[in-house]
Amino acid sequence: MQVRITVSFPYEAPVSQSLFDRASVVTPGGVNSPVRAFRAVGGTPRFMVSGTGPYLTDADGREYVDLVCSWGPMILGHSHPEVIAAVQDAVARGTSFGTPGAGEVELAEEIVARIAPVEQVRLVSSGTEATMSAIRLARGFTGRAKVIKFAGCYHGHVDALLAAAGSGVATFGLPDTPGVTGAQAGDTIVLPYNDLAAVRAAFAAHEGEIACVITEASPGNMGVVPPLPGFNQGLADLCSRNGALYVSDEVMTGFRVSKAGWYGIDGVRPDLMTFGKVMGGGFPAAAFGGRADVMAHLAPAGPVYQAGTLSGNPIATAAGVAQLRLLDDAAYAKVDAVSAEVRGLVTAALAKEGVAHRLQVAGNMFSVFFTDAEVTDYEKAKTQESFRFTAFFHSMLAQGVYLPPSAFESWFVSTAHDDAAVERIAAALPAAARAAAEATA
Ligand code: PLP
Repeated sequence: MQVRITVSFPYEAPVSQSLFDRASVVTPGGVNSPVRAFRAVGGTPRFMVSGTGPYLTDADGREYVDLVCSWGPMILGHSHPEVIAAVQDAVARGTSFGTPGAGEVELAEEIVARIAPVEQVRLVSSGTEATMSAIRLARGFTGRAKVIKFAGCYHGHVDALLAAAGSGVATFGLPDTPGVTGAQAGDTIVLPYNDLAAVRAAFAAHEGEIACVITEASPGNMGVVPPLPGFNQGLADLCSRNGALYVSDEVMTGFRVSKAGWYGIDGVRPDLMTFGKVMGGGFPAAAFGGRADVMAHLAPAGPVYQAGTLSGNPIATAAGVAQLRLLDDAAYAKVDAVSAEVRGLVTAALAKEGVAHRLQVAGNMFSVFFTDAEVTDYEKAKTQESFRFTAFFHSMLAQGVYLPPSAFESWFVSTAHDDAAVERIAAALPAAARAAAEATA
């Protein structure tokens, strides 16, 4: 059934609306990934036609400062000339060969060179594939079935990992997803995030049964909820003591929060890691990797099967290599500085209007919770006043600033967010903060 959104706002997007109407006929919900649909905030999703630097332009010709950055990948901004040149060069040589290619080797070498725990890496096409394959490998390697995950962590739409997931599942408050069978979810143990005692108890209750613990290195899919000091190290220690693998999902944080992702910040050594987003330069490229003795169990070297027609696609790898090579220390310093500046502006504007809020930060990722309590897990994240975010979001959108259309998502900035872009954000914030203050549930 098509659900029409009836909320109306004092600004229009007729071309986006007409595209959304057409899309809703041929595509479920009118979108190809649920959080794009604006269901959590209401209104018409903006159909974007182009992106340059820190800006997106929609089908109605309106320009927005982009604080979503394609949900993380566009860390150099849109249409970075050197990434575009690398893509154009690759396209001119053909789009897919179904054979090994030099670009795959280069991208794998870039990843291995940056992230010490990754001794070998396998390229795939999406973060979902990366986590799905890492779980299969962990099960194949250990000969065990059970997986521990944390409520509010999102690892893509892998059947076994959808229980109490973040991102769209959190945004829409979905219960267990129909279509995931009891058998597929039955080996998943869901625990509260940041609760080492719960992990200890699960290992004790399921001795010799747990293949791995998978966690977002620093969660960004229930809003930004960083690990408490010692949490990731505690997970690594419990895994190693119990013969399980510690799988760190860096699809979001990898190559974004530092050259070596969250591993570059907390230094806790995982057995396996997953990557996506930034490493693809805006194309479908992702990866999983880690200990060479574990990776050796993957086909064709070992018995655990994993494959992909478009894995290591030459255009995606060219974009990824170009983007990673541009991400030097200066680039991360720039992204960190922009992030700090925007955070400061957001907090100042909300504080001025007396709006209870909490800005949570993980490297250069951040999100605003409309609550004054510290958010350390998914249950606490859900207690925020999301209706204030809705008002805030629409005011920013009306003023040309594109935020993630959900209170449960990280905001992302890029090296391209210059003074002019930050000034536009600053100019929009006072009215948005007022709207948040005046909002009612
Ligand atoms: N893991 C994490 C931490 C993510 O944030 C995401 C996507 O947002 C995924 C996995 C899934 O990646 P993809 O959307 O490329 O399948």
